[in-house]
Amino acid sequence: MLLLIKHATIFDPEPQGACDLLIGGGKILLMEPDIRVPRKHCEVVDARNLNAVPGFIDGHVHIMGGGGEGGFATRTPDLPLTDAIYGGVTTVVGCLGTDGYTRNMAGLLAKAKGLDEEGISTFVYSGSYGLPLRTLMPTLEEDLLFIDKVIGAGEVALSDHRSSQPTFEAFAQVVAMARRGGMLSGKAGVVNVHLGDGARGLEFLRRILAETELSAAQMLPTHINRNPRLFEEGIAYAKGGGNVDFTTSTLPSYLEDGEIPCAKALRRMLDAGVDPGRITFTSDGQGSLPDWDRHGRLQEISVGRVTSLFPAVRQAVQEEGIPLETALRVITSNPARILKLKAKGRLAPGMDADLVLLDPKDLEVRTVIAKGRMLMKAGRLLAKGMFQ
Ligand code: ZN
Repeated sequence: MLLLIKHATIFDPEPQGACDLLIGGGKILLMEPDIRVPRKHCEVVDARNLNAVPGFIDGHVHIMGGGGEGGFATRTPDLPLTDAIYGGVTTVVGCLGTDGYTRNMAGLLAKAKGLDEEGISTFVYSGSYGLPLRTLMPTLEEDLLFIDKVIGAGEVALSDHRSSQPTFEAFAQVVAMARRGGMLSGKAGVVNVHLGDGARGLEFLRRILAETELSAAQMLPTHINRNPRLFEEGIAYAKGGGNVDFTTSTLPSYLEDGEIPCAKALRRMLDAGVDPGRITFTSDGQGSLPDWDRHGRLQEISVGRVTSLFPAVRQAVQEEGIPLETALRVITSNPARILKLKAKGRLAPGMDADLVLLDPKDLEVRTVIAKGRMLMKAGRLLAKGMFQ
């Protein structure tokens, strides 16, 4: 069955005016004005007065759960499909965090495949916070070469009391493995780097650029908005050609302690002259949000949500005056390019049929289509996870 979206205002994410979209076999087949197909061959969606934008890419989600930083009872649950749907998220990159022991690559990959069967697109990073990396195959290069869903390594923790305190050499070796495996497999081979509040900040990433032959394309540091000092380092790093990722899941206490809300962080980076193509947002969905006191004692713990991703982009438009097409890039074309997700992040014939219809007045997600299948229509959920 074909799907015909009529009269949508296209942001591919650049504004392209009014167009129809013909969808079939999970792909966008045509994008042009006034497409006509006999009614018996297709379902028609009237998108007059709606914006059609690429489905959102959330590049850092603890899809099989994470946490555990306050003991077993604080292990967080896995990602329910409906959270992705409500959030307009049609592609997720799954990763492991602090706990790479009770959670492992086999489980992560199984959850990724499950979400895929349920209707969205998934990729994974190999490893977790600690080094040496615990991969599924003997090496990261082999994970990249032989496991389709693996696009890089991570989240490898630096400058954090929860990291494995890797040496610079150990970190450089992981970036080198990502480079080699990425080249050989035709994938991005990106190391997703978790930054904590530690004073070393981005030091190891700067040293990679200064002391090795490896490039900034091999690293995507995340949580860059977590404190003002790291954020200032992030501005300089991005102006020097690095990519930076901000985390949208937060707690009021994090913001009180100096975390910069993503919308404001985007505004400040753009005002500082950072190339808008260098910035991505991710939710850290299903990750734990631990609240430690000054003595490192856990005060409270809650769970990140993928539904925080798009509201941060909406806030950037509504409160920071950033054009929709610029703000959209951080969750569509930028992550697709940086992570080399070739059929994702843009609306064009031949791309995967992942799209969201937005109400242009309040920027609410109305309709979600993933791999050509309608998962939400006019605010009504059409799909659920297997056990939801
Ligand atoms: Zn992290």
